[in-house]
Amino acid sequence: MNLLEHQGKRLLARHGIAVPRGVLWPALPTGVGGYVVKAQTRAGGRGKRGGIRFAETSEAAGAAARQLAAAHLGDDAVESVYVEERLAIAKELYLAVVVDRDARCRVVLASPRGGVDIEDVPDDAILRLPVDPAGGLTPSAAREIAKFLDPSGAASGAIETVVMALYALVVAEDMMLAEINPLAVTEDGRVVAADAKCTLDERARFRHDDWDAYAAPPQGSEIERAMAAAGGAAADIDPDGDVVGVISGAGLMMATLDLMVAHGIRVRCVIDMGGTPLGGAEGLVPIFQAVAAMNPRVTFINAYFHTALADSFARGVVDAATTAPLPGRVIMRLLGRNAADGRALLAPLGFECYDGLTEALAAVAAVAKG
Ligand code: GDP
Ligand code: MN
Repeated sequence: MNLLEHQGKRLLARHGIAVPRGVLWPALPTGVGGYVVKAQTRAGGRGKRGGIRFAETSEAAGAAARQLAAAHLGDDAVESVYVEERLAIAKELYLAVVVDRDARCRVVLASPRGGVDIEDVPDDAILRLPVDPAGGLTPSAAREIAKFLDPSGAASGAIETVVMALYALVVAEDMMLAEINPLAVTEDGRVVAADAKCTLDERARFRHDDWDAYAAPPQGSEIERAMAAAGGAAADIDPDGDVVGVISGAGLMMATLDLMVAHGIRVRCVIDMGGTPLGGAEGLVPIFQAVAAMNPRVTFINAYFHTALADSFARGVVDAATTAPLPGRVIMRLLGRNAADGRALLAPLGFECYDGLTEALAAVAAVAKG
């Protein structure tokens, strides 16, 4: 999970790394000479995409923040806007600690040429220092890194402290990556993390009760969020579509969507039932309720089971459809172990059942376009 910049900076600060004074908009930092207004997205490269603005006055900072809050940076939603004091930067450095799976250890990456994508920095300007996981980062290694970043030595003491603190942070917080780019040396000689990009290792979630607070707000339409909450997944396609597809598995869902489109069918939405069929009627009811709310002309249930039993799925469908009746026509393709028994159970509901996909699709197309 990628943290937002301001979340990452709070962790840096907790580990003793200096960060600019900042607050989340609509608040503004007080008593500062100038402002940096920063879109908070899960992806980096905001500067290049217009997500970082500079402002002299609080009015200008507020106006920039309002614009950014309503903006999209590429596909990334702007979750919040963070406003900081503007630093007078003399030099931009690059510093990161990253888990290197191949090397089976963490690696410190450092470059005196910060402020640009590290991919654009030539190899000979990057120091890569693998760290023995058992011994940890030694002060002498941190000193070597600091010397590489600041040969003049003026800021190297402060940089050395940052290197040690960043490594400790990555270990303590179970991060896959902590990147400070730029690590700014200010005109008055301070060393400040002007940006922070942190990635948490999801496998360590059980160790961190506080990580839930970092989660991105759920994305997607109302149906998509409801289906995700119910244990399935949905893709909202066309508000004027005639058919809702309810399908066993994400791969079959995409294939079914393709086939329906190829048949000239306007698709309202496709839903992958996920693991819900194994939960019987209880798992299926929220899906059927969502379908009913969309009120399609046709509900096309395409279910093909390999390990689960098709007849026990059918029993769940019968119970779920009793609690949450499906509107319009229901056309179903049911295949897998005991499918014939399953189809027999469903016939009394008025469902049109097929075992072949071709016949089922033809029936869906006939009703949808009729
Ligand atoms: P990113 O584009 O998502 O990596 O966002 P950054 O936070 O790194 O900001 C992009 C660039 O804006 C940095 O590389 C700096 O050159 C510049 N920048 C950010 N904050 C400040 C600041 O306080 N003062 C100055 N002078 N430049 C800044
Ligand atoms: Mn940056």
